[in-house]
Amino acid sequence: MRLRNVKNKKEILDSSKLLILDYEKYKGKWNKLFNNDNPIYIEIGMGKGSFILENALRYPSINFIGIEKYDSIIARAIQKIEGLDDIPNNLRLLRMDAKDITNAFSKEIDKIYLNFSDPWPKKRHSERRLTSNSFLKKYDEIFKNEKVIEVKTDNQNLFEYSLITISNNGYVFENISLDLHNSDILDNIMTEYEKKFTEKNNKIYYLKAKKMSNKGKKC
Ligand code: SAH
Repeated sequence: MRLRNVKNKKEILDSSKLLILDYEKYKGKWNKLFNNDNPIYIEIGMGKGSFILENALRYPSINFIGIEKYDSIIARAIQKIEGLDDIPNNLRLLRMDAKDITNAFSKEIDKIYLNFSDPWPKKRHSERRLTSNSFLKKYDEIFKNEKVIEVKTDNQNLFEYSLITISNNGYVFENISLDLHNSDILDNIMTEYEKKFTEKNNKIYYLKAKKMSNKGKKC
């Protein structure tokens, strides 16, 4: 996502109540921060945050954490959300590169959303894709029991790649659509990129994958 530099981004980040700067402190203890034991869903690469915000408003008994690596982009998300009259208390944001995700969470995440992730088309960059084996191994460490990943993209190559890596990492697919907006999935919340690509008539690919905990598998 390209965005012009936001001039006062440092002040926006430093004064935000939504943004958790010292996220390492909450590793394994996010339920304490939210002050409840509700499930925690995260979006990695949330962009300007409209998907995660809409989810937080629609599902108050789930906690949502939006993760984004660029200051300027997260500053825009903060401005938008903190401008609301009622800021949802089930939402937090992290400024972090996903490669550091195991510093932030331990066995406490119930679902990961990967929406319109950077495709990294060159083969030599494939490990940077958020559905690469190395990322999937990290997600194994942060998930609680049942692991759920939902992917949306308009990029066919990234989608095909993700079907293979996710399947090879022990997940089963609960749902796959090659044209989400003409499917029977009705509770879809559109992301910023999804709106943009849909206006261009691109089809949206979608998958929902599940893996049960390893516990009890070998005896
Ligand atoms: N999910 C949003 C934005 C998609 S663009 C939407 O669907 O509208 C992809 C976003 O992921 C960008 O904002 C980019 O900065 C962020 N991103 C890419 N790699 C990342 C990483 N390793 N860690 C965290 N965020 C990342």
